[in-house]
Amino acid sequence: MTVALVGAGPGDPGLITVRGLERIRSCEVLVVDRLVAPELVEEAPDDALVIHRDELGQEAVNTLLVELGRDYEVVRLKGGDPFVFGRGGEEALALAEAEIQFEVVPGVSSIAAVPAAALVPVTHRGVSDQVTIASGHAADDSEPDYEALARPGGTLVLFMALQRLDRVARGLIEAGLDPSMPAAVVSRGTMPDQEVVTAPLDAVAEAAHGLPGPALVIVGQVVSVRARLAAVAAIAANA
Ligand code: SAH
Repeated sequence: MTVALVGAGPGDPGLITVRGLERIRSCEVLVVDRLVAPELVEEAPDDALVIHRDELGQEAVNTLLVELGRDYEVVRLKGGDPFVFGRGGEEALALAEAEIQFEVVPGVSSIAAVPAAALVPVTHRGVSDQVTIASGHAADDSEPDYEALARPGGTLVLFMALQRLDRVARGLIEAGLDPSMPAAVVSRGTMPDQEVVTAPLDAVAEAAHGLPGPALVIVGQVVSVRARLAAVAAIAANA
């Protein structure tokens, strides 16, 4: 029996991969996260057992996957890509250590999908040829390394930063980033209620106040490309 760690994509159920959908349609047990689109859960066979892991801690999920993986075809469905801030690596390690066969089915991560859906190209010729991805909320609750994040000069994409955006923006500015650097917050990217807020870095926290999560923060000159695209937005179906 196999446990497939499947990336569900960023929110829009149309953005799962063909293989990911095949695995869901043939599973016996589906273990899902909160961020996963309900439409994808409905793709599981009628007699499949569906487990929502919301209340379970990571250790309990690891143990559950190991136990289920001995007897069933299991799909572990995770938002975005399983290995991008998704703790999929920990689940894969637990399965490997228990000698349970597993497969990783990559997903469309929000790092790729969410800026694109908001018409922000994370790289753009002559504007940015470098992308730094970081979490605004370290696992041990420590502050991000602002000095390192302020250095690159390309595009900075921050996961899990909405709740403390005020502190994060201040930290970046104190570490040397230009307060007028364009920034964007994309709330619920690729979903029907997607919202995009853009502002200079020193004003973005206030501009984004109250937006619902999940949200991605983008900092860099590429954000200004969006305005150029939005000026002709009638042609872009997702503007
Ligand atoms: N494995 C996922 C990330 C999980 S961490 C992936 O590859 O996308 C959860 C964080 O991802 C959220 O706090 C948010 O910063 C970001 N995120 C996930 N889905 C998002 C969406 N639809 N819109 C905006 N941000 C999203």
